[in-house]
Amino acid sequence: MFEILKPKVYVNSIYNIDLKKLKKMKKIRGIIVDLDNTLVAWGKNEINQRVIDWVKEAKKLELKICIVSNTNSKRVEKYAKILNLPYYSKLFKPFSISFINGLKILNTRKNETVVIGDQIFTDILGGNRLKLFTILVTPIINRDAIGTFPQRTLERIIISFWLKRGIIKKEVGNWP
Ligand SMILES: [Mg+2]
Repeated sequence: MFEILKPKVYVNSIYNIDLKKLKKMKKIRGIIVDLDNTLVAWGKNEINQRVIDWVKEAKKLELKICIVSNTNSKRVEKYAKILNLPYYSKLFKPFSISFINGLKILNTRKNETVVIGDQIFTDILGGNRLKLFTILVTPIINRDAIGTFPQRTLERIIISFWLKRGIIKKEVGNWP
């Protein structure tokens, strides 16, 4: 059920993703990553040093990263600058155009690109549609834009249904 919404992998946070192995075992070269509640807490104006280090580590491994976000451009621009990353921010997720632009910026092929995000209706749906490798993370905080409330509720129901049936499981420790 809801196959198109299902992430390939479900982890607690970006820190549970072993970038070295991702590159070596999955032949990944590019990362399309969501901003709010994936890299930074929604509505907050601070960034964790750990995120900065995570991006540095990815760069050291020659993984290319692009932020693709539905959040207003100014906010995305600010964090993209801090992290020194390219970004694409138009309210287009889950439409393919967002991810296609991400791929263009990264200059990577679909089969060597991963999408990391906290929402199945935007990040995962969009990534799966283009057959990118999709990784779902738990949102950093439980709050989100008011308009996403119905979607968030449905999302929680679907994820707990999957977990109960063993359709997906949350990877413990580092993946892969
Ligand atoms: Mg998000």
